Amino acid sequence: MTNRVPFIAGNWKMNLDHLQAIALIQKLCWTLNDADHDWGKVEVAVFPPFTSLRSAQTLIEAERFEVRLGAQDISAHESGAFTGEVSGSMLAKLDAKYVLIGHSERRQYHSETDEIVNAKVAAAFKHGITPVICVGETLEELETQGQSAVPVAQTIAALSGHDKLSDFIIAYEPVWAIGTGKVATPKEAEDVAAAIRAALRENYGEEASNARILYGGSVKANNVAGFLQSPEVDGVLVGGASLDAEEFSGISRFQKHIVL
Ligand code: PEP
Repeated sequence: MTNRVPFIAGNWKMNLDHLQAIALIQKLCWTLNDADHDWGKVEVAVFPPFTSLRSAQTLIEAERFEVRLGAQDISAHESGAFTGEVSGSMLAKLDAKYVLIGHSERRQYHSETDEIVNAKVAAAFKHGITPVICVGETLEELETQGQSAVPVAQTIAALSGHDKLSDFIIAYEPVWAIGTGKVATPKEAEDVAAAIRAALRENYGEEASNARILYGGSVKANNVAGFLQSPEVDGVLVGGASLDAEEFSGISRFQKHIVL
């Protein structure tokens, strides 16, 4: 075990309106509170669509829930004529502590390049929001370049050139494992996380190498423990299974499956 606090993140993608979002957050927090979840020992965050952030913020504050709030994207720009975009200052006002950047669906469907990801990371740093930088190889890249090359290169590209690295999280998500039911093995996740950590250490020193590194891709309550048994893997980024309060609370309580 390391002293990095495990991070369990739920990416809701484009699902649930703001009323459904409130219901899901309530059920998740009640379920975890009933189970005496120690929120300081295992951090849990949800990433609803933009339209639900204000309602989620109000609920979390009113109920004093300890779940963290994150956004699914951030504009690289400060303000102005960027129709449809949402800025870092707007997200910070909504108490979004985290933001997903460079999710494979944004890289694939919105042509997000490493340069755009890098600029979005700068915007998050500027507004004190912790970027959860998503990296991972496609099936073709896996076959031609092996498992670590692309995620390591994407990590370095996302972080390069920033004056000072603030807190950040890397989510290793093999593209072939997202929403497919195909899961990387715990050993594969561990090896890639170790390669990313080694590259962070080499490029940015010991402090950067203490960043949390997550695994994502078809994580469920019944397979999460395998990933978190590795000292290299500090949490999980969960898509589909985060839309079910029982399942996501089961994932957040992964420690009950681990014999320490
Ligand atoms: C994701 O969207 O980041 C993800 C990992 O999805 P899923 O858990 O559904 O594979």
